Amino acid sequence: MKALDELTFDNRFARLGDAFSTSVLPDPIEAPRLVVASEAAMRLLDLEPTEAYSPVFAELFSGHKLWGEAEPRAMVYSGHQFGHYNPRLGDGRGLLLGEVYTDAGEHWDLHLKGAGQTPWSRGADGRAVLRSSIREFLASEALYALGIPSSRALCVIGSDTPVWREKQERAAMLLRLAPSHVRFGHFEYFYYTKQPELAKQLGEHVLAMHFPECLEQPEPYLAMYRQIVERNAQLIAKWQAYGFCHGVMNTDNMSILGITFDFGPFAFLDDFDANFICNHSDHEGRYSFSNQVPIAHWNLSALAQALTPFISVEALRETLGLFLPLYEAHYADLMRRRLGFTTAEDDDKQLLERLFALMQNSAVDYNLFFRRLGDEAAEAAVLKLRDDFIDRDAFDAWATAYLARLNREPASSDRTARMHAVNPLYVLRNYLAQKAIDAAEDGDYEEVRRLHRVLTRPFEAQAGMEAYAQRPPEWGKHLEISCSS
Ligand code: AMP
Ligand code: MG
Repeated sequence: MKALDELTFDNRFARLGDAFSTSVLPDPIEAPRLVVASEAAMRLLDLEPTEAYSPVFAELFSGHKLWGEAEPRAMVYSGHQFGHYNPRLGDGRGLLLGEVYTDAGEHWDLHLKGAGQTPWSRGADGRAVLRSSIREFLASEALYALGIPSSRALCVIGSDTPVWREKQERAAMLLRLAPSHVRFGHFEYFYYTKQPELAKQLGEHVLAMHFPECLEQPEPYLAMYRQIVERNAQLIAKWQAYGFCHGVMNTDNMSILGITFDFGPFAFLDDFDANFICNHSDHEGRYSFSNQVPIAHWNLSALAQALTPFISVEALRETLGLFLPLYEAHYADLMRRRLGFTTAEDDDKQLLERLFALMQNSAVDYNLFFRRLGDEAAEAAVLKLRDDFIDRDAFDAWATAYLARLNREPASSDRTARMHAVNPLYVLRNYLAQKAIDAAEDGDYEEVRRLHRVLTRPFEAQAGMEAYAQRPPEWGKHLEISCSS
C-alpha cells in the first residue's frame, strides 16, 4: 500500500501530443473538503485507504496541489448528441491528470471532473455541482458492485465555490478512474475532421494500450471493433437485466472499453416500465429504457462509420450484425439466472415477456420482485408476490407456468443462495441518492457515505439497513432529473 506521494505516473495519452489533448491546469475550488471516498477504488491505485483523510487528499483532488509527474490535459473529441453530429466537444470541464501505473502493472486514468474551463468549455463554467458529482460517485461504485462494467470513482471533494445552474449551487470535483477515457467520439473527431494520419495514430495507440491481443490478428482494427461490439452487447444486457437507464447515450459518452461512462440523469427502474425516460430533458424518449438496445446498435454503427478508413464496409456491417444476437444471448442468460433457472428452454423468453407485461400493468417494483422471488420456496414466494398484481388471475396463470418451468429444472437445494447472488437487495434508487444529496448540500456527508457502504454489498442483507431495501415513497418515484449538472 502506498501513500499519496508514492504514486507513479506513465502518461501515455499525453505523449500522443497536442493534436489529441491540450495542457490545462486545474482551477481550484474554495475550501475543499472530503465528501466521500471509495476504499475499493483507492485499492485499485494501491493507495492506503486512510490517505483519504489526509488534508493533502482533498487538496490534490480539488485542484490545489498536483503531483510533479502529473500532466493535466483536456482531450479533444466530438460525437453524436441525440442523433445529431456535434463537431466539437472535448473535455469542457474535466482533465486527464495523468495515468497511474500500479504494482499489478495496470494503468488507471485519473480524470478530475469539474476542474474548471478548458478550450472546449464552449462558454460554460467548467464546473460540476455537488449533486451530480455525488450521483456519479454512487453510481460508478454501485454498478461495479453489481458486476456491471463501469468507470470508477475515487472521491468527491466539496467546496464553497458558488456555481449557477437553475439556482445557485456549490461546485465539487469528482475523481474518476478508468483504464481509458477514449470514447467513440474520439474516433469520430479525427474521421470527420479528415485527419487520417491522426486517426491512425489514435487507432494504433488504442490497439497497443487496450486491445493488444488484437494486434496478433490478421486485421487488428476489425478484431478491435468486434471486441467493442461484444463488450457493448454484454454491457447493455446487464443494464437491461438490472433496470439501469443511462439517460444520455450520446456517442461522446460511450467508452471504447464497453464500460458505463459519463453519468448524467441516469436511474435504476423502481416500478417496471419499459418506456421509462430518466432524462427529464429527453422529450422524445430517444434514450428510454427499452430504446437503449437499438441506440447502442446505432452508436456502434456511428463508430463503424468512423472506422471505415481502416476496415471494409462489408466487414464492419457483418460485425455490427453480431450485436443483437450477442445481446439477446447475454440478456437471456442473465434473466434466466434472475428467475432461478440453471437451464435454458425455448419458451423462457415468452415467460419473461408475460411477466413484464404484468409488472408494467401493476407498476411492480422491478428489482425487489426478483429478490423476493428467491427469498423462500417458489410456491410460497409467488403466493406473497401475487398481492402486488392487479390482475390476480393473470398473475396466477403466470405463476403456474413458472412453477411448472421450475419443476423441469434439475433438483437443487441452494435456490435462495443462487438467486440472491444475482438479485440485489439494494439498488441506487433515485430517491435514496436524493436524500443523501439533500443532507450533503446541508454539509452533512454521513448519509452519502452510508449509502455508498450499503451499495458496495448489494446482494447481502445488511443488519439495520432495511430502509434501503424498500420501495420508494410516492414522492421518490417522480423526481425530475435533467441534464443540468
Ligand atoms: P455531458 O453532458 O456531461 O456528457 O457533457 C457534454 C459536453 O459538454 C462535454 O464536452 C462536456 O465537457 C461539456 N460540458 C458539460 N458541462 C459543462 C460545464 N459546466 N462547463 C464546460 N463544459 C461542460
Ligand atoms: Mg459526456
